[in-house]
Amino acid sequence: MGFFAPEFTDAPLNGLLTSAGATVINGIWGVALLRYARKVRSPALRADAKHLFTDVVSTAGVLIGLVLVVVTGWAVLDPLLAAFVALNILWSGWGVIRESVGGLMDVATPPSTLTTIREVIAGNADGALEAHDIRTRQAGKLTFIEFHLVVPGAMSVDDAHNICDRVEAELRKAVEDVQVTIHVEPEDKAKHSGIVVV
Ligand code: ZN
Ligand code: ZN
Repeated sequence: MGFFAPEFTDAPLNGLLTSAGATVINGIWGVALLRYARKVRSPALRADAKHLFTDVVSTAGVLIGLVLVVVTGWAVLDPLLAAFVALNILWSGWGVIRESVGGLMDVATPPSTLTTIREVIAGNADGALEAHDIRTRQAGKLTFIEFHLVVPGAMSVDDAHNICDRVEAELRKAVEDVQVTIHVEPEDKAKHSGIVVV
């Protein structure tokens, strides 16, 4: 087939029906996955569901095109359809490459997550005085958080550790797949420019 010598596609009904059936099942599965992703608040699952929907939409496009070719006998649709399928494959391939490269490289943490992190630290570090030098980075699904926590110099290691555990636990609840490293410091290391927690 080609743009200059289009020939009529003899689309077998069986193949069409199988594709249509698979697309309907994928669509239903996509809806279920999206609902579950929302329920457990998983961005990764939501991305999977979106990917599934993209496939469903493009397959539906191809199927509608095939039906049009068969019904109208308009053979010029055939190469157009082939071009559409090729573009769709290129587009999906690009998505896969982008996702895996993004998984290898560190990217900036979204501002909304940064705000959440600051709020969680400020709201759960009772007993500490200040948090500063907060650094975050994303690698794939993981978010790494590092910061300095200033506590009264006379505070026991036990008490300081309890604060750290509490903040870590709350950060784990608020941000998905998080790795927290806290550097505890005595009062005189306070910068007075970080998050005040008392
Ligand atoms: Zn410091
Ligand atoms: Zn610990």
